Amino acid sequence: MLQVYAPHTGDLIGEVPEAGAPDVQRAVERARGAFATWSRTSPRQRVRALARVRDTLVAERAHLIDRLIAETGKVRGDALAEVTILLETFRYYLGHAEALLADEEITPALLKSKRGLVAYHPLGVVGIISPWNFPLDLGFGEAIPALLAGNAVALKPSELTPLISLEVQRLTASAGLDPNLFQVVTGAGPTGAALVEHVDHITFTGSVAVGRQVAQAAARRLIPCTLELGGKDPMIVLRDADLDRAAAGAVWGAFFNSGQMCMSVERVYVEEPVADAFTAKVLARTRALRQGVDGHYTHDVGAMTRVQQLDTVKTHLQDALDRGARVLTGGRHTPGLPPTFFEPTVLVDVDHTMAVMRDETFGPLLPIMRVRDAEEAVRLANDSPYGLNASVWSRDADVARRVARQILSGAVCVNDVVISYGIPELPFGGVKESGLGRRHGPAGLRKYTLQQTVAEDRLGLTREPNWFPYSPRVLNLLERASGLFAGVKGLFAR
Ligand code: NAD
Repeated sequence: MLQVYAPHTGDLIGEVPEAGAPDVQRAVERARGAFATWSRTSPRQRVRALARVRDTLVAERAHLIDRLIAETGKVRGDALAEVTILLETFRYYLGHAEALLADEEITPALLKSKRGLVAYHPLGVVGIISPWNFPLDLGFGEAIPALLAGNAVALKPSELTPLISLEVQRLTASAGLDPNLFQVVTGAGPTGAALVEHVDHITFTGSVAVGRQVAQAAARRLIPCTLELGGKDPMIVLRDADLDRAAAGAVWGAFFNSGQMCMSVERVYVEEPVADAFTAKVLARTRALRQGVDGHYTHDVGAMTRVQQLDTVKTHLQDALDRGARVLTGGRHTPGLPPTFFEPTVLVDVDHTMAVMRDETFGPLLPIMRVRDAEEAVRLANDSPYGLNASVWSRDADVARRVARQILSGAVCVNDVVISYGIPELPFGGVKESGLGRRHGPAGLRKYTLQQTVAEDRLGLTREPNWFPYSPRVLNLLERASGLFAGVKGLFAR
């Protein structure tokens, strides 16, 4: 059995089974049984069924928020944000699933005697492996498009935060879904590894190191995979930025969820002329943050969910200090609170020799580096193996957009942070080591389908589907006509 502890109190709050490979196989088989019926329902029927699940979750939202707080040590505002994003995902996909899954008719430009269509079929059982920082949204949130596309789902939540997924499993069944359609298998890494061996698509959210192992296992089985991995998101503050707004963005982006977010603001590059003013504003806002978890909306920053993550935070901090960085605020355990609370920390005099500017910290550190100009900021922003999210701040929208396009990342925010994930209409995902594939947007649903091309003859328009019945004279004519046709088409295309 796996014990689950509340990070902010240290209390034991639950025990869950550690599923072995045979348990995982049986869970996937049960899901496959449910798939046989579910995959034959129409998208409209699935939308109705998932709308009932949404309604049940909405009715239970206070309970879900309490559950999230209990196993993550988040503040209530952060838990509310997670539930809100989940409901936004519901809104988007319930509204668009039917259109996204409908056959697409294609009219050929040349072969007028033919017609084509693209059909989107379900894949089978989708496996989801999720991390501990947003256990509801990164777990069941991914199941929403997978189920709407007609698949069954088997979810392996993080061993640190399995309870919320089990709760959602109970609620989906009480909302009328076949209890076998959405399976939750609890356990640690080996349980996740076993899941990859049985499913038809694997969506993994977690670290780069484990992501590589999952990708290798998926490659062996030749199943598609989506990888949502780490990040080291840069924030670029240009000299004409609204500094109050930029400082507010830096503080929220760095300390939301105690910095345990793949698209946290992990490093700031600010142009020299405004560096002091910007840093002063960041400092004032950081010092005003209230830390603690009492289940109400009284605090801004909660605990670290994974106590080992604190080791990374402390290692990055010490490495930066050893190389000449200065702490302007924070830099220690929060006095009077349990050891999982670390003070929101602002660092200056940092550079790229320091781990804090290169490696993912995933904790409440905000390093601010001065740069000469936008060009240097872009160069440093791109000096990273990661490319998940980024932000650019300027009052000149054209300049901000131009700089944004120079950053090698899957998403960029302009005069904002993080929000690219909060808009489910927008595809979200990484480049470089931040991952493969997208969640949200049309691609976030269609990745859970088997795309089938159907090409048809419009019966009767040509005698036979081959050249054989034609004489050499007709074929010669055709050869000349095809050149002429391409030429004429080319003229119009120009
Ligand atoms: P992790 O890689 O340690 O674990 C993620 C999940 O994989 C867990 O459920 C774990 O039990 C499972 N797992 C571990 N070993 C496995 C194996 N060999 N095969 C299959 N599954 C295995 O990551 P974590 O510590 O839970 O999460 C933090 C990481 O997640 C950070 O790097 C963060 O950036 C990343 N993350 C990325 C996104 C994104 O959307 N890009 C979102 C949130 C978190």
